[in-house]
Amino acid sequence: MALRKCPMCLASMSKRAVLRGTDDLACPKCNHPLEVASPSSYVATWIGLAAGVLCAWGSGRSLTDTMLGWALPVVYGTVAYGVVSALALVIFGDLVVRHQDPAFSTEAGHASHH
Ligand SMILES: [Zn+2]
Repeated sequence: MALRKCPMCLASMSKRAVLRGTDDLACPKCNHPLEVASPSSYVATWIGLAAGVLCAWGSGRSLTDTMLGWALPVVYGTVAYGVVSALALVIFGDLVVRHQDPAFSTEAGHASHH
């Protein structure tokens, strides 16, 4: 499936729409309700986490002797996580059709555990 494209009509979604990722994400052409596929979200999250850890680790080595040396790596890591995971979502974001009935997704999620 193409990245950031509607699975129904293959219309391209804007990066901003994918980044927002709200519940009202819909295809601008065919109006099918869409959502970012879970694997794409996981990949983006892990890439962001890796970037955050690397950034915190890298900045922590050079800033440990300053007054806020313990806090700045955490701040840098958090910012890196947010920015990189958002970029990864824009790059790797794969869209799937969202099921409109909220009971469907919650019941299916619970049924798999029982
Ligand atoms: Zn469409």
